[in-house]
Amino acid sequence: MTDTSTPTRSNFIRQIIENDLATGKHEHIVTRFPPEPNGYLHIGHAKSIVLNFGLAQSYGGTCNLRFDDTNPLKEDVEFVDSIQADVRWLGFEWGERVYFASDYFEQLYCFAIELIEQGLAYVCDLNADDTRAYRGTLTEPGRASPYRDRAIAENLDLFMRMRAGEFADGSRTLRAKIDMESPNINLRDPVLYRIKHGVIHHQTGSAWCLYPTYDYTHPLSDALEGITHSLCTLEFEDHRPLYEWCIAHVSVSSTPRQIEFSRLNLEYTVMSKRRLTELVSEHLVQGWDDPRMPTLAGLRRRGYTPAAIRDFCERIGITKSDNLVEMALLESAIRDDLDVTAPRRMAVLRPLKVVLTNYTAAAPEWMIANNHPKCSEMGSRALPFSRELYIDRTDFAEQPPKDFKRLIPNGEVRLRNAYVIRCDEVIKDASGEVIELRASVDFATLGKNPEGRKVKGVIHWVAAATAIAAEVRLYDRLFGVPIPGAGGNDYRADLNPNSLQVLTACKVEPELATATAGERFQFEREGYFVVDPDTTPAHLVFNLTVGLRDTWAKS
Ligand code: ATP
Ligand code: MG
Repeated sequence: MTDTSTPTRSNFIRQIIENDLATGKHEHIVTRFPPEPNGYLHIGHAKSIVLNFGLAQSYGGTCNLRFDDTNPLKEDVEFVDSIQADVRWLGFEWGERVYFASDYFEQLYCFAIELIEQGLAYVCDLNADDTRAYRGTLTEPGRASPYRDRAIAENLDLFMRMRAGEFADGSRTLRAKIDMESPNINLRDPVLYRIKHGVIHHQTGSAWCLYPTYDYTHPLSDALEGITHSLCTLEFEDHRPLYEWCIAHVSVSSTPRQIEFSRLNLEYTVMSKRRLTELVSEHLVQGWDDPRMPTLAGLRRRGYTPAAIRDFCERIGITKSDNLVEMALLESAIRDDLDVTAPRRMAVLRPLKVVLTNYTAAAPEWMIANNHPKCSEMGSRALPFSRELYIDRTDFAEQPPKDFKRLIPNGEVRLRNAYVIRCDEVIKDASGEVIELRASVDFATLGKNPEGRKVKGVIHWVAAATAIAAEVRLYDRLFGVPIPGAGGNDYRADLNPNSLQVLTACKVEPELATATAGERFQFEREGYFVVDPDTTPAHLVFNLTVGLRDTWAKS
C-alpha cells in the first residue's frame, strides 16, 4: 500500500475514537466508505475516503469498502469498477473487505420479519402521494395510515407475498411503526421496503422485486459488518434516531455509532452526482474524466497526484460547520507537491520565430539546464541551441506596457540557460502581424551578465530545428461563479465558456519527445503540465494542471 501517512491533525472524531479506545469501549475500530455505485467518485468523496481509511490506519483498525446498492435503477457495474480504481489510486486498500449492501438482502428481509413479528412494522397500501400527504410537515403532525393497525399475521402474509411478486410497483410498502407525531419527520413511520419489478440489479440480477430503503439498509449493514464508527455527512443528522431505532429493534449484536461531519463544498464547481451525471450525459463536458471535472478521474487526468489530494483533505480538516472551500486551497496542494517533484522543461505555447543573425555555428551548441532549481539529484540535461529559435509571442511587445521586462524592439533579454540577445528587426506579414524577429547574440553573456550589464528579463525558448510539435490544453474553472446555480438560476447558465482552450501549434524541447501519459512537468514560466492519455508517439498532448504561483520575469 502507498505511504498515506500524511501528518494528521486532531479533530472531534479522532477525540471520540481515542476516548473509545482509552475506555475500552472498542479494542479495534472499524470504519467504512459506503459509496452508491451511481456515478464516479469526486473530491468530496475523497474527503470521506481519506477520513475513513485514514482513521483505520492511524488507530490500527480496518476500513471496509461497501457499495450501498439499494437503488438498482441508477446503478451500474461501470461505477462499481471505477470506484474501486479511484480508491486504490488515492492510495487505499481494503483487502478482502469489499462488500455490497445487496449481499445482505436476505438477512435484511429476515430482520424485517422480526420487526413485523414484534408489531414494529406493517404493510401499508397507501400510494406514494398519499403516504407523503399523511406524513404531515415540519409544522403539522402526521396522520396514521389506515393500515397501521393491521394484524401481525396479515402483515407477515402480505410481506411474503410482496417478495413473491404478487403486487404491482407502488401498490404496497413495508413501513416501520414508530411515531406519526414525532417532530422528526424521519420517524413518522418511514418506508422500509418498496416493490420494483423488472429491474436487473447489477449484483442480484432479477432475484428480488422488493428493495430495502437506504435508511433501513445503511444502519443494519453497518451493524452486520461490526462498524464501530459510522461517519456520514451532516444532512444525515436528522436520520440518526432512525439509524439507532433500526439497530435497536432487530437481532444484530453490534451497535455502531453514527457521527456526522460537514461535507466538502468547493468553489466554482458542482459536487452533486445528479449534476455531474447531467454534465456528462448532456455532453457539457467530455466525460467523467474530463480534466475540468471535480471527479477523481478528472483530477487524475488533469495531473493531480494522490498525495496532493490527500494533503488537501488534511488541510481542510474535519468539522461540523458547513463551509465553501476556496479552489485556491486545492490548487496550492498540487502546486506544493509538483514544485518539489516535477522536472523543469521548456515549452513555447505560442511560438514566434527568432533568427539570430550573427550566430553562425553549423552544429548545435548544447546548453546545460538543471532539471530542478533546488534539487540537484534530479540532474541536468543538454538543450540544443541554434540560429533559429522560438520564443513565446507574449514575451515580445512592440508597444510594451509599463515595466515590461521582456523583449522589445532594440531591447535586450536573456534566453534562459543561454545568451542575452538584442532584437534588431521586426518582420511582419501583409496584415501587420509580427511573424519573425531578427536578433543578435551577445556572446559575452553565456550563463551570466558581464560586469556593469544589467539585463533583467529572462525568457524561455526552444531551438527551432529540434523542437517537437505538441498540443497543449489549457483549462480554466468549469464554472464562472463560485456557487453555480446560486440565486435560483440553472447552474448550466453559469458554465464558463472559456474553460478549455486548445493550443495546437506548441513547440517543446526535444527531451519531451519520449514523455508518456501521466508524466508531469513544470514548463518554465507557464505552469505544471501532465501528458494526456490522448498522446501518441506522433502527437504529444499536454494538459495544464495548474499555473505557477510566482513567475519569474513575468512582467
Ligand atoms: P449524492 O447525494 O450527490 O448522490 P452522496 O453524497 O450520497 O451523493 P454516496 O456515494 O452515497 O454519494 O457517498 C458515499 C460517501 O461519501 C458517503 O458517506 C457520503 O457522506 C460521502 N460524501 C459524499 N459527498 C461528500 C462530500 N461532498 N463531502 C464529504 N463526504 C462526502
Ligand atoms: Mg448517498
